[in-house]
Amino acid sequence: MPDADTFLPFALPDIGEEEIRAVEACLRSGWVTTGPVTRRFEAAFRDYLGAEVEAIAVNSATAGLHLALEAAGIEPDDEVIVPTLTFTASAEVVRYLGARPVFVDSDPHTLNLDPAAVAAAITARTRAIVPVHFGGMAADMDTIVRLARRHGLRVIEDAAHAFPTRHHGRLVGTLDSDVTVFSFYANKTMTTGEGGMVVTRDPRLAERIRCMRLHGISRDAFDRYVSRTPSWYYEVVAAGFKYNLTDIASAIGIEQLRKIDRFQQRRAELARRYDDALADLPLVLPARPAPGSGSTHAWHLYVVRLDRAARGPGGARRTGVDRIGRDALIARLAERGIGTSVHFIPLHRQPYWRDSCGLHAADFPVAEAAFEAMLTLPLYTRMTDADQERVIAALHELLP
Ligand SMILES: *Cc1c(COP(=O)(O)O)cnc(C)c1O
Repeated sequence: MPDADTFLPFALPDIGEEEIRAVEACLRSGWVTTGPVTRRFEAAFRDYLGAEVEAIAVNSATAGLHLALEAAGIEPDDEVIVPTLTFTASAEVVRYLGARPVFVDSDPHTLNLDPAAVAAAITARTRAIVPVHFGGMAADMDTIVRLARRHGLRVIEDAAHAFPTRHHGRLVGTLDSDVTVFSFYANKTMTTGEGGMVVTRDPRLAERIRCMRLHGISRDAFDRYVSRTPSWYYEVVAAGFKYNLTDIASAIGIEQLRKIDRFQQRRAELARRYDDALADLPLVLPARPAPGSGSTHAWHLYVVRLDRAARGPGGARRTGVDRIGRDALIARLAERGIGTSVHFIPLHRQPYWRDSCGLHAADFPVAEAAFEAMLTLPLYTRMTDADQERVIAALHELLP
């Protein structure tokens, strides 16, 4: 077995001296909770998106999704449409509010939620749709927003994978949904350790989200300490949450954001190299936005699927594919010191969701087939060309 030094993980954060110095300065300033640095991070994020939006920093994307659905007025027994092929956070926030996630299948090409399945899932109780931009390529937002408008539904984007992603020339975060939520978890395209950003154009939603982010207090703590009005006075207007991002985390975020275009370029370069080097293997490679569409991919994840239908010369089934399954391929790669993962075990397969929502695998044929065939290859900015060659060589050896 290779030692830990040569093990190639499937993701790694890219933290430089700039982030370390920024955290040190924050610690030395004496202000460590939400304050001026978080304000600067929110302003910088808004500037990056370059649109008339509000950006509200939170301590995770999960918290942000919860705040977004709460502000959108989701109540007990409401239904919220969520893809099955996602992380449990996309659905658990619906349960926080006593509402019911209604799971839908994926598009076989992009693995994003299938708009036809969304349309079929809408009932009189449906209040919102939560599209997830799988891997970093935008879902079919035009169709989803149109459907939502027709039925009077909210659209809350789970954009945990999609920073920065363009959809027909516009950045995710500036599209026509109600709220967009980004994640800065350790393995995402930029990180604050733990953290997230909620973005909305709607000033009423923004006000509610800001208020509920910090205990339902009508002014936030920083205002309380620096404002010239009596500093002891505040009003609790709702039973809020404790979802604020610290200045320590925001200090990291400001430096990561400065590097995000370089990060994105490197990710795109690595994805292109995988595409070229793996094209002749029995793999379904990740979908790409159509050239000239103005759409781009954040390449948070590079997800391949074993192509069971691949045919060799003369139409015979490719023996390599029949010999090795997904689980075995992951194990063989691990033996060679290459870390991979699976995104995702569909939620309809998870005991809690399966049992509490009465879900059946037969209702999600696309996600089922994708799950059984999929693995996520290493892709992160600190990965060298030589690291990637190792992954490519191992795949050529294991998938002849
Ligand atoms: C990572 C992730 C989240 C949760 O993000 P946190 O910041 O860890 O709360 C939500 N949805 C999806 C699809 C994710 O991948």
